[in-house]
Amino acid sequence: MPGYKKACRFCGKLVDENSAFCPFCSRAHPHHAVCPYCSAPIETGWTLCNKCGKALVTACQKCGSPAGPDTDVCEKCGAVVRYRCPSCAAVVVSGEKVCNRCGNKLKDFWKSNRV
Ligand SMILES: [Zn+2]
Ligand SMILES: [Zn+2]
Ligand SMILES: [Zn+2]
Ligand SMILES: [Zn+2]
Repeated sequence: MPGYKKACRFCGKLVDENSAFCPFCSRAHPHHAVCPYCSAPIETGWTLCNKCGKALVTACQKCGSPAGPDTDVCEKCGAVVRYRCPSCAAVVVSGEKVCNRCGNKLKDFWKSNRV
């Protein structure tokens, strides 16, 4: 299969089209903004996903500052806002055994994140 590469929307480096994460800046979904919960495409500025209805902007549990759909680590205090499946980049709930989206086992992931 020919490797089709597109520029990462965060760092601008060329990343394989099917990558769930950018290998350079490690941000999720390097090519399109998507809902972190159901992976439906979203537009900049949306506060709700029009597919699953979940809020795209959440508040940091530690300091309360808003975190958008692409923010996994709070820009203000550095607290983790959401965890993502290391395989498909869907949001996973802390302690969940498998990813709801791709079925990837998360046991080692939680171990390495010390959750
Ligand atoms: Zn990048
Ligand atoms: Zn959604
Ligand atoms: Zn914070
Ligand atoms: Zn997954």
